[in-house]
Amino acid sequence: MSIRYTGVSADILDAIGDTPLVEVEGVFAKLEFLNPSGSIKARIAKYMIERAERDGLLKPGDTIVEATSGNTGNALALVAAVKGYRMRVVMPEGLSSERVAISRAYGAEVEFCGNFHVDQALQRARELGRQPGFFCPSQFESEVNVEENRLVLGPEILAQLPDGRLPDALVLGVGTGGTLIGVGQAFRAVNPQVRLFAMEPGESRTILCGEIATHTIEGISDGFVPGIFQRHAELVDDFLSVSSEDAVAAMRQLARRHGLFCGPSSGAHLLAARRVRERFPELRTVVTAFCDKGEKYLHEYFMQPEAKAVRTEHFG
Ligand code: PMP
Repeated sequence: MSIRYTGVSADILDAIGDTPLVEVEGVFAKLEFLNPSGSIKARIAKYMIERAERDGLLKPGDTIVEATSGNTGNALALVAAVKGYRMRVVMPEGLSSERVAISRAYGAEVEFCGNFHVDQALQRARELGRQPGFFCPSQFESEVNVEENRLVLGPEILAQLPDGRLPDALVLGVGTGGTLIGVGQAFRAVNPQVRLFAMEPGESRTILCGEIATHTIEGISDGFVPGIFQRHAELVDDFLSVSSEDAVAAMRQLARRHGLFCGPSSGAHLLAARRVRERFPELRTVVTAFCDKGEKYLHEYFMQPEAKAVRTEHFG
């Protein structure tokens, strides 16, 4: 076992990234819920803010504002706290209460806009971002988001795959699309044949079918096709869907079977990646990510001792 951390870190932001990659049920999963602030979004939050500082778009005393389904809000609130900026999170109502509380814990102000889907919050954050003293990273549009995933997260996964294996497939849901597209670009550079699969909730296949409906796979399919995805759609080979019910059941199983206490998108990612593995046996190295931690969903799913019935038929 190598020693991963030596010496003194500058601050908590140094603990972002360098997460484990585990093989679970035949697929490789990057454990992104272990990042500070509890999700994959810590990576782009730090990266987008440090880029804005270098480009002179963000100055001391400014307020960062962003539209989010919650995880990017938590992550930006963390970065803002460390760096001394004010943070305004603009998010819809109807998502897990923990996401709101976590942003507030880091000292952010939370403004509610719309219900469940992020489109109204997006308009509001754009509006505020144009005002003096505000900076909006625009995660749904930003190539800086894609760049972090291409230059940092993607290469990290490539370096961790065992025995120099190359990825055959990448399976991920689309919030901003930054992870699927950016990591996908990094994978294509080493294996031009790698297959990219976008996963959507069965109830709301927005990209594939134009459907916009509520679902419980929080953090993906926010009610519109993000700019990042529109610009890079040609990179994606195929779509698959997972129902909210199956995603939540798989989330529960991940904790009980493997000690991986993650949110519903992680359950959906596991099911989708396993399905790719089963349908296309030639794709041996299938990669996905477990994006946020289960503690963000305590009130929605884990406060009752009986914890509802758990369906097990997907897991043999
Ligand atoms: N899962 C969860 C829990 C998320 O919060 C997000 C991002 N909102 C994603 C998956 C998708 O990541 P991306 O924005 O890079 O598409």
